[in-house]
Amino acid sequence: MFDNLQDRLNTVFKKFKGQGRLDENNIQEGLREVRLALLEADVNFKVVKEFISRVKDRCLGQDVLKSLTPGQQVVKIVHEEMIGLLGGETADLELRGNPAVIMMVGLQGSGKTTTSSKLALHLRRLKFKPLLVPADVYRPAAIEQLTTLGKQLDVPVFASSTDMNPVDIASQAREYAREQGCNVMLLDTAGRLHIDETLMDELAAIKAEVSPQEILFVADAMTGQDAVTVAASFDERLDVSGVVLTKMDGDARGGAALSIKHVTGKPIKFVGMGEKASDLEVFHPDRAASRILG
Ligand code: GDP
Repeated sequence: MFDNLQDRLNTVFKKFKGQGRLDENNIQEGLREVRLALLEADVNFKVVKEFISRVKDRCLGQDVLKSLTPGQQVVKIVHEEMIGLLGGETADLELRGNPAVIMMVGLQGSGKTTTSSKLALHLRRLKFKPLLVPADVYRPAAIEQLTTLGKQLDVPVFASSTDMNPVDIASQAREYAREQGCNVMLLDTAGRLHIDETLMDELAAIKAEVSPQEILFVADAMTGQDAVTVAASFDERLDVSGVVLTKMDGDARGGAALSIKHVTGKPIKFVGMGEKASDLEVFHPDRAASRILG
């Protein structure tokens, strides 16, 4: 992840830093290479355009050109703008209510079920008492998968069955969570291979029933700009509260991570770094920017 982008940007930055003086031409030329590197990493072209324009405006400010270390100033500006692109501050979960409800949404195969169990483990480490709730009644294997994951982690799983309606599952599970003293419930909803209206209607009905504090859109980082487009559709319909980017341990180029906040306005809250329950990390924009910039 980010390896190619990191290599490309390092080359550009070395050139910048190696120059004692910078003029408008050097800066334009260097930023052209930054632009190409971002486009090759599959970052949304509008995002790239605005990013480069912001960086250029700041770099051409008199202070940078006149400073003793203009190259380092340019690198610092790119770093700061990159943090902004990745979301600025670390975005925490907002968990209130008894129980707090977290609804996981996204396409089939994006990693919803795996991420639900990873989040249960994460929340338990933070001293919450989670309940896992399978609400994908269309794939019997999905209920089984979450039940097995819950058993492995020793986290209670609501006993959903395929003949139940997902809205009823959500409301009955909430009652069950209260009875069992679970203060947060993770609702693993159904996905489809493509966005479809029936799915969106169902998700909207679940949202209306249990008013989740968090609706996390789970996206496979390997799908690049498709993940961003799908995120925008889910957000338009459901007003999601954040994004989880999965499969960041793979060789995704980074385009989804660098575009999704800017396009949807919603922060990346977690990243999936593998298939195991412990492979979930809170997303820190400043650390991610430092990794990209080497
Ligand atoms: P769902 O259909 O959205 O519930 O997706 P699943 O949770 O079943 O995940 C689909 C596949 O992606 C499974 O094989 C998971 O093990 C895998 N997966 C999920 N998250 C990650 C991740 O962060 N890294 C890797 N390498 N694989 C993941």
